[in-house]
This record gives sequence, C-alpha cells and structure tokens, in this order.
Amino acid sequence: MAIRFLNTYTRALEEFRPLDPAGKTVKIYTCGPTVYNYAHIGNFRAYLFEDLLQRHLEASGYQVNRVMNLTDVDDKTIRGCRAAGLPLAQFTQKFKDAFFEDLKTLRIKPATTFPAATDPVYIARMIGMIGHLVEHGYAYQAEDKSVYFRLNKFPDYGKLAHLNLEELRPTGRIANDEYEKESVGDFALWKAWDEADGDVAWESPWGKGRPGWHIECSAMATGLLGDEIDIHCGGVDNIFPHHEAEIAQAECCTGHKFVRTWLHCAHLMVEGQKMSKSAGNFFTLRDLLQKGWSGREIRYVLLSVNYRLPLNFTFESLAAARSALGRIDEWIARLAEKAGSGQNASAHPLADPTRFAEALGDDLNISGALGVLFEMIRETNRALDRGELTPADARALLNTWEKINATLQFQREEEAISQAVLDLVEARAAARAAKNWAESDALRAKIDAAGWSVKDSKEGQKLSRK
Ligand code: AMP
Ligand code: ZN
Repeated sequence: MAIRFLNTYTRALEEFRPLDPAGKTVKIYTCGPTVYNYAHIGNFRAYLFEDLLQRHLEASGYQVNRVMNLTDVDDKTIRGCRAAGLPLAQFTQKFKDAFFEDLKTLRIKPATTFPAATDPVYIARMIGMIGHLVEHGYAYQAEDKSVYFRLNKFPDYGKLAHLNLEELRPTGRIANDEYEKESVGDFALWKAWDEADGDVAWESPWGKGRPGWHIECSAMATGLLGDEIDIHCGGVDNIFPHHEAEIAQAECCTGHKFVRTWLHCAHLMVEGQKMSKSAGNFFTLRDLLQKGWSGREIRYVLLSVNYRLPLNFTFESLAAARSALGRIDEWIARLAEKAGSGQNASAHPLADPTRFAEALGDDLNISGALGVLFEMIRETNRALDRGELTPADARALLNTWEKINATLQFQREEEAISQAVLDLVEARAAARAAKNWAESDALRAKIDAAGWSVKDSKEGQKLSRK
C-alpha cells in the first residue's frame, strides 16, 4: 500500500520509497531531548508522531532503523550542572533515566540507537567533520577561537525553511557579540572554552572547547545511518536554524544529499502559545500523571490530531480521550465475550483493516484513521445489538484490532489482579458452592470496592476492571 508524506523540503506530497535497493529498511533520524530537565508534553508530541511514523512503516512491512540523539552538552546542560554543583555526566544522567521512563509510560517504541553527544566516539567524529570543513574552506576559526560555518559557501542554506539567504545577511551594523564572525548568520561548529563552561571541555585542533548543537546531530546521524538518510524528523522549531545547519554540515562533508524526506510536527499549544520551558506554560508527563491521567490517555491526546496541525492542549481533551478509550475498551470486552474461546475468524467486511492503513498512508492522517476505527466500533456495536455477528466474526474483528493497536498502542493494559482480590474470589467460589448466597453477595461487594466487577458464568466467575 502506498505511503505518502508531505516533505518539508519540497512542500509536496511525495510517494515514499526507501533508499534501500531491497526496499526493506528505512533509516530515520529524530532529534532527541536536551537532557537538562524533564521533557514536557510538547516535546512528547514530537516523539509520539515519530512513534506513529515508525509503527506505521513497520505495519506496512518495512524494517526501521531509527536513531534518536540525546543532547547532553550545550549551554542549558552546562548551566544546569553548574547550578546543581554536579559533574555534567551525573547531572544529565538523571534526566536521561527520566526520559526513558517517560517513553515507556507513553508506549513509545525505543529508537534502535540513542547516541549521546558526549560519547567520545561522536566527539571525535564531530572534530573530524569540523576539520574537514575547515580544510575545504567551509569553516574558519575566528578571533574568539571558535570555529564557524561559512554560510556563503553553501548556497542551499535556507531551502528547507524556504528562506531567502540574502535576508539573513543584514547590511547594517553587526551586533557586538557577533563581531568575530565574518557574517552574522555564520553558526558555531566548535565553541571555544570560556569560564561559564567550568570543567566541561574537550581538546581539539582549535584549542579547548565543545561542539555546537548542530554538528552533534550531523555527526551522529551520518555516523550511525550513513551519508544518506530516508527520513529526518523534528518539531517545526527545529527547521531553522538547526536542520538547515545539519544539512549544510553533512552535505559539505559527504558530498551527498543528506536527507530525502523531512517531516516536522506543528507545536503543542497552550492558549495560543507554543508550550515551552522558557514560556513557563508547560506540563511534564509527571505533572499529568500526578493529576490522575494515565500514559495512554496522554498518548491519545497527543496523537489524535494530525502532526502537521497545531494541537491545543486542554484538560477537556484529556477527558475526551478518557471517554474515547473507554469506548474502545467496552467494544473489545463485548467482542471478547462474543468470540469466547473460539479461534476461527470469518472474513467479515467490517473487519477489513485496509481503510485504516490507507488513512495513515496519507501523510499519517490520524484523524482519518481514528474516524475509520470509530466507525468500525459503531457499526460492530449495532451488528452485535441486532445479533448479527457470529463468534468467528467477533474473532475477526479482534484480530483486526490487534493489527490496528500495534500502531496505535491504545489497548488497556491487562492489569494483574492482586492476591487480595484473588482470595476474595476464591472465598466467593466456596460460598457459592455451599449455597451461602448472603456470603457470596457480601464478597461481591468487597470485590467491587476493590475496583473489580465479578460476573458469574458457566465457566465460573469472570473479573473485569470497573
Ligand atoms: P528540545 O529538547 O527543545 O531540543 O526539543 C526536543 C523536540 O521537541 C524537538 O523536536 C522540538 O522541535 C520538539 N518540541 C519542543 N517544543 C514543542 C512543542 N510545544 N510542540 C511540539 N514539539 C515541540
Ligand atoms: Zn538535531
């Protein structure tokens, strides 16, 4: 089935074809978190759209090799570790751990590799790339000892963001703090050490310093995925200057086109403003968990609007997610009851997953895909009400749901039933065997109070979460 993406670079809807001549593997690079704090749910909107992308490609038969970097050295991490009085590595570790925990809570599939910028292998690669750029005239060391990329050597700069390069070169006085550069738009590849960096520094041919943020990504992307990558993602705020800079550095080093398809998600907004740490209008995942919302509810909210459209975050949308997921849960429970233990599946037309996949194949049109799913739920419920579905039809629908859920990850997790509840169930079975109905009812009330409903069937008691 065809997959089309709206490529930020060309602004065109293009049919996706992997670089892999066998047409099997897809190489994806996704800009990851700067680990100086807990990621906020705006960041997770970006990571969730990338998760949807990966899962849809996998559901379509591709094998995905995805890299997500961890920016564990930059101005913010250095400021943070100095304020905390901790070595940089110790300071960032806490936020790396939290990030991996949050990915699990949101059911985001881990990338194949999570390289960290401070890994000596990548620092060496960054220095190597900068050396190459200097040698070939694409970069220069300025008076302040930092190394800058010479923008006018790369005429394609600005093409991703559709900017006119001339507009980036102001003709008036250059601001004071930019005086060392040849041109105001030139960006740093290597930042010479200064006192604010404390003990964070690496040796290089240009003296003590640290890499710029942009070169980190070019080095890790080409190092792990090769000169050419199928898809590169991030939020729209990454387009300029970060991704423009990534392209300039990578292409001037390798001589190849760096990325085929660029995908960028629009922002998560709060009252008309981008959710961001600096604006102070953010929620971390932890904030929302503490308020009683679950990972899957937050996943639903952040995924349910097409990635190219801004998404306004509200608590009403969380409540709506809770009720939408409740409908899915009830539907699955109904189908499971109807299907029983039979494994035979019919070829019922309602169980056709094609339209769901087609919607996602259209630039990850999740609203379309959810529309298909909820129509399936509505139609199935009606058919069940009319007694029109056989156990084999219900099994076919459950099988389809399994496929859909492999991409959406919306299914309620089977909760382990606590031993205390199991003991109550056992005691109730004994009470019923002894025809002690009063005791049986009292035990049912206790099970109920513990958050479970119990149903009596021919096979015995059946528990479900209330
Ligand atoms: P950062 O840690 O700021 O480098 O951001 C990590 C990722 O989150 C990047 O891909 C950003 O583009 C993305 N991002 C940051 N804020 C938002 C937001 N409010 N909505 C969507 N994506 C965001
Ligand atoms: Zn990046």
